[in-house]
Amino acid sequence: MSFQVIGLPVSRGVAIGRAVLVASSRVDVAHYFIDESRVESEIARLRLARDAVAGELSLLKRDLPAEAPAELSALLDVHLMLLHDDALTGATKQWIVERHYNAEWALSAQLEVLARQFDEMEDEYLRERKADLEQVVERMLRALAHGPGASFAAAPAVRARDFAGEDPLVLVANDIAPADMLHFKGGVFTGFVTDVGGRTSHTAIVARSMDIPAVVGAREASRIIRQDDWVIIDGDNGLVIVNPSPIVLEEYRFRQRQAELERERLSRLRHTPAVTLDGERIELLANIELPEDASAALEAGAVGVGLFRSEFLFMNRGGELPGEDEQFEAYRAAVEAMNGLPVTIRTVDIGADKPLDRMSVNELRHEHALNPALGLRAIRWSLSEPGMFRQQLRAILRASAYGKVRLLIPMVAHLSEVKLTLDALARAKQQLTDAGRPYVDVEVGAMIEVPAAALMLPVFLRYFDFVSIGTNDLIQYTLAIDRADESVAHLYDPWHPAVLALVAGTIRQAGEAGKHVSVCGEMAGDPAFTELLLGMGLRSFSMHPAQIAAIKQRVLRADTRRCVVRATSLLEAEDPRDQGVRLVAG
Ligand code: PEP
Ligand code: MG
Repeated sequence: MSFQVIGLPVSRGVAIGRAVLVASSRVDVAHYFIDESRVESEIARLRLARDAVAGELSLLKRDLPAEAPAELSALLDVHLMLLHDDALTGATKQWIVERHYNAEWALSAQLEVLARQFDEMEDEYLRERKADLEQVVERMLRALAHGPGASFAAAPAVRARDFAGEDPLVLVANDIAPADMLHFKGGVFTGFVTDVGGRTSHTAIVARSMDIPAVVGAREASRIIRQDDWVIIDGDNGLVIVNPSPIVLEEYRFRQRQAELERERLSRLRHTPAVTLDGERIELLANIELPEDASAALEAGAVGVGLFRSEFLFMNRGGELPGEDEQFEAYRAAVEAMNGLPVTIRTVDIGADKPLDRMSVNELRHEHALNPALGLRAIRWSLSEPGMFRQQLRAILRASAYGKVRLLIPMVAHLSEVKLTLDALARAKQQLTDAGRPYVDVEVGAMIEVPAAALMLPVFLRYFDFVSIGTNDLIQYTLAIDRADESVAHLYDPWHPAVLALVAGTIRQAGEAGKHVSVCGEMAGDPAFTELLLGMGLRSFSMHPAQIAAIKQRVLRADTRRCVVRATSLLEAEDPRDQGVRLVAG
């Protein structure tokens, strides 16, 4: 049966593929692809886990006290029976063999399939056996986590070409933790759908950085879409069409081809300098998450990295953080890959919707009743871990000996944070000097992401060499809207006059102080805002590499003198969105 689900459009384009459901489980489940050579050992892991659980259950049964009710023993028998049923273990094996899922993922995918079958049963007694099945699977997942070969971080990223010849796959999940998204970065999926999330949640940001169509906040999607359903993801309109009719499918395939042609056309601008009609040179930089992304940045024609989100190096490590040398190697790799172009490395921004471990936003909300976006994140977290912070600063400084590095500090709001940060940097430099390690006196910048920072900019500018406006958080904190919460996503408004006033004020004051200013939030990569930002005086934009060509096209067609006139009137407007849309159209 064909049906549609509506959500928020977060990453443009059309994806067509078979649904892969990532089940939400009470046990933390790693999802990654294994390569062909690991299929046998993954099946062996599954077998070992099953045997371990069978042993556990048999022991429990043997040790039941004599006075225990008979039902308990019968229940353990049911669990043992479910454990050995081919519908569970046999079918799970199939997911590993055919889809190359890791054992945990295969098991939770099969649980999803069976749970639906139980839900549809007429007989109430049988329907209730679903809970037993869930308990058995949970035991197996725990056994897998404690058994051999459970190391997740070492899992190789398997690329799409390894699946050549199979149907394209799209991922459907209640939520995907940013850390899990990293494992999908190899390009296995052609699109994503999640039930929760906002336009600038980090899961959406990673989807955009992968340049694949995505819809988030699609509420019930993961409940009503089934494994292997055919799905169209319309990332431009926030629409998910499940099991489309042949006519609809053809229409979307046509749109896909058109988009591909447009992309090819834009990619020809790669080596064209970004200069406006009136001769203003505009700096288009890239946002990256991992050193490997530097090549995509160069290919897209970026003239440097404006934001390296270093926290992605800290994720998926089971709580163990990367040491100084490991970080240094990662930063050096990015710096060397950029071939002398500047690389702006942001110190770790852990917290809010970017937990260290593979935790989804939903789980976060349950685990921490308080709002994590207002808690210990970014520079607050770094300053609370001084040893870790200095270690990162040393690693970044050491990388500066290999190219042009700039240091960026996230989410500063207090002058005390500025001073503590600069003290930590001075100590890190001293430690390197004492150890005889080379480094360069890097430029230090602040991210302007909290209204407090924008409002006291003249003071901050005395301490920093440059600023970078993080509009994603600036909008979140100005409007008091959790950027990851789909239920208030309609109020997350980049056109809000208060947001525009803070952005314009920051660009103007930085310019007056002679300090470099860029925008590295999603606004910089959205063509709807290019003329407006140019009109505010912005000359440096940092965005996902995939967006550079589209922004360059707008820059090439812009005349900054006209942009100023329009921006001035827009900043005075009661409803800037209304005028802004006309500005884009005109
Ligand atoms: C921002 O807040 O705009 C930003 C670029 O940082 P992040 O999206 O990583 O929070
Ligand atoms: Mg931010």
